[in-house]
Amino acid sequence: MHIYRLPALSDNYIFLLHDPVANTAAVVDPANADCVLRQLETLKSPLVAIFNTHHHNDHVGGNNKLLAQFPEAVVYGGAEDRERIPGQQVFLQEGDRVEFGARVGQVLFVPGHTRAHIAYYFPPTQSDRPGDLFCGDTLFSGGCGRLFEGTPTQMVDSLSKIRALPDNTRVWCAHEYTQKNLEFDLTVDRDNLDLQQRYQEVKQLRDRGEATIPTWLGVEKRTNPFLRWDDSGLQQTVKSNNPVQTFARLRGMKDQF
Ligand code: ZN
Ligand code: FE
Repeated sequence: MHIYRLPALSDNYIFLLHDPVANTAAVVDPANADCVLRQLETLKSPLVAIFNTHHHNDHVGGNNKLLAQFPEAVVYGGAEDRERIPGQQVFLQEGDRVEFGARVGQVLFVPGHTRAHIAYYFPPTQSDRPGDLFCGDTLFSGGCGRLFEGTPTQMVDSLSKIRALPDNTRVWCAHEYTQKNLEFDLTVDRDNLDLQQRYQEVKQLRDRGEATIPTWLGVEKRTNPFLRWDDSGLQQTVKSNNPVQTFARLRGMKDQF
């Protein structure tokens, strides 16, 4: 499976999955259709699936136009998103499986950013290959989604599921927010050498106009404060020894940053 990262809107990424054996394609969170249609044209490949993580327009905005061109494409989304995702046909829950080409994706129910948000985790097909996580607006590099419809408890629960996945997982976040996130992270976790190093890498990438996505889950576990609610240094920073409260206070500080 080859994954194409297509920039869209001001800071979104759309991910086009291509299976070269069957010559079919699927798309994750099409913010708009035009760049997807162009890439499909280049590949001369039909679209067979749309995988949506949640109902926000910058993730489903291209659904209808893509369906007009490829009416046979199957639209997947979370069960709780019923009537919020255009064209949705499959209503997924925690533990469900989705297939694309030779890969089988596992559905994680990850409410918090929205009450219905799901993520798709494709484990590696061989032990020396990475897995791939499409997590929408739940986990960002150096950050996490705002809590629009969920509670800190829910989000910690959701991020715990992601944190339990192998380090050797490519994380395909839906927004290029990394540099801004890391600027905040350095204010709360200043002495973290991995974080300092990640910031330097990201700054160089962004100065050259390059993407910071995908990121590695192993890197996020070491650098992203929104996966580190049980770190004693961060707990001291926010003056709490409760993991959920630590997360909630960090999220509140980031909202004001
Ligand atoms: Zn969103
Ligand atoms: Fe978004």
